[in-house]
Amino acid sequence: MGPEGHSVPTIAIVEDNDDNLMLFEAMLEDSYEIRAFCDGPSALGGLAAGGVDLILLDISLPGMDGIEVLKRLRGRDQTRDLPIVALTAHAMRGDEDRFLAEGFDAYLAKPIIDEDAFFATIARLLEDRA
Ligand code: MN
Repeated sequence: MGPEGHSVPTIAIVEDNDDNLMLFEAMLEDSYEIRAFCDGPSALGGLAAGGVDLILLDISLPGMDGIEVLKRLRGRDQTRDLPIVALTAHAMRGDEDRFLAEGFDAYLAKPIIDEDAFFATIARLLEDRA
């Protein structure tokens, strides 16, 4: 159940690249409600009251990077315990450990090569939350 009592979970996508954003929306919109944000401040504003079940958060964002956005979301009661997934286009060895240590619940490298693994990660995190 979503936060408003809907049966369809809501996923926030924070992504500054329009092509990536459209791709994520296309992949997820059949199964989830989507709320899209193009940078950290708009996401922090839009998510101030919570209202989502999971957040996909790009690391490389203009102005305020995804790590800083994560820290601010973790500092608020409304979003402290939400599953938050790091997205990065510059995948390097050790990234996953680093992002999990920062407080992300999972890490996904862009582009999404393995769609099944992508959907499985999201479904697992939503189940853990239920
Ligand atoms: Mn980006």
